[in-house]
Amino acid sequence: MALVQEVLEIVKKRNPNEPEFLQAVTEVLESIRPVVERYKKYRDGKILERIVEPERMIQFRVPWIDDKGQIQVNRGFRIQMNSAIGPYKGGLRFHPTVNASILKFLAFEQVFKNSLTTLPMGGGKGGADFDPKGKSDNEVMRFCQSFMTELFHHVGPNTDVPAGDIGVGRREIGYLFGQYKRLANEFTGVLTGKSLNWGGSLIRPQATGYGAVYFAQEMLKTRGETIEGKVCTVSGSGNAAQYTAKKLNQVGAKVVTMSDSGGFIYDKAGITQEKVEWIMHLKNVRRRRIKEYAEHFRAKYVEGQRPWGIKCDCAFPCATQNEITKDDAKKLLDNGCYLVSEAANMPSAPAAVDLFLARKILFGPGKAANAGGVATSGLEMSQNSIRFSWTREEVDQRLRQIMTTIHKNAWDTAAEYGQPGNLVVGANIAGFVKVADAMLDQGVV
Ligand code: NDP
Repeated sequence: MALVQEVLEIVKKRNPNEPEFLQAVTEVLESIRPVVERYKKYRDGKILERIVEPERMIQFRVPWIDDKGQIQVNRGFRIQMNSAIGPYKGGLRFHPTVNASILKFLAFEQVFKNSLTTLPMGGGKGGADFDPKGKSDNEVMRFCQSFMTELFHHVGPNTDVPAGDIGVGRREIGYLFGQYKRLANEFTGVLTGKSLNWGGSLIRPQATGYGAVYFAQEMLKTRGETIEGKVCTVSGSGNAAQYTAKKLNQVGAKVVTMSDSGGFIYDKAGITQEKVEWIMHLKNVRRRRIKEYAEHFRAKYVEGQRPWGIKCDCAFPCATQNEITKDDAKKLLDNGCYLVSEAANMPSAPAAVDLFLARKILFGPGKAANAGGVATSGLEMSQNSIRFSWTREEVDQRLRQIMTTIHKNAWDTAAEYGQPGNLVVGANIAGFVKVADAMLDQGVV
């Protein structure tokens, strides 16, 4: 049996009932097959066998008291996947669906993504099956304090530096940081995504969305096109979606959809900058549902569905994993969509990715297209280390440069391995080689 197949069998056996983890590992291992076949050092060093096994997994109880005085118990996790090229780095997700499989897939993806950013960051991910929706600020604070009381033992500015993800934004990062500072008696860059006046970086909130648009611009350049005037569908209405929509407006594209887990809105006239601001207030301050947009702006609301049936040139999935099924991909392609830039992690199911690649559309896989978020977190870490803040223009310029470099690296690598234009293969191989070489240098650890 070929090595990749053998390792996949081991992963399946060792991680039963973890479909998302298996999906992410399968995609990466299948695309790095040519490198492993070409270089004996990776086979002898058992890099595949090692890279699929987290260096450490922490699971813990998170007890907290709700506003009625009742004790609630959630399950917390931190997956420390790989530290070959730097301290573990990756977000925290608070969502009722969180489990080991989802966090392991995210941590695994993060290893290659962080490698692609060119910054010295290993890969990790964590979170809890806690749902911040419908909770009071006090409840969220008590939960975050309890969560950090355990996580505290495992993180630190040179060990593991978490950030936000689904359900973890500025508010949660603040409560988590406050508790860490209290326990450690130290003001240090242990988290990224912090507020500006206590160690955050300019452009960090914007970075994932802006980065996904910069990446789309790089993809379009290969065909001599620009994004101006393109009709774009966006899913989600959280951090990644909001700033994707903002940047798309800034560069002259037209955003026609956004969504949440209840359904999607379709505004044929365009979700303009002012309307995006309204959504940001709705979601970040009032914490309400996207449906209200349709009532306010007289747009269409489609309950229980995703926006992929709407005609567009470019699609920006910004919500969650596997949100574009094979059928959705078919609809997108039939309607003439020829660019997909994944701001979310693994939003396209494997069969959808296969269709996009077969039709040779411009497809930016998450680990490349959404790497702007973690890259800017890396820039926040640098600024914290030198106790200095760069200007908005400086950080944005670096972000733009990093997205251009990631695209070029993935593009060139795909060509080198005989699959020109296939950024899935390009990103996976480019991300892998750097981590694998570092692992070989550091011996059997
Ligand atoms: P937020 O919590 O800010 O927003 C998430 C959005 O996606 C919400 O609109 C939410 O709707 C929707 N959503 C979440 N789960 C589901 C679901 N199961 N079905 C339908 N809609 C859903 O998270 P982010 O914007 O930070 O994250 C979105 C994606 O981007 C994730 O895949 C994340 O991993 C990825 N990402 C984020 C980065 C960041 O810097 N924040 C960096 C890189 C990637 P509702 O409110 O109804 O749940």
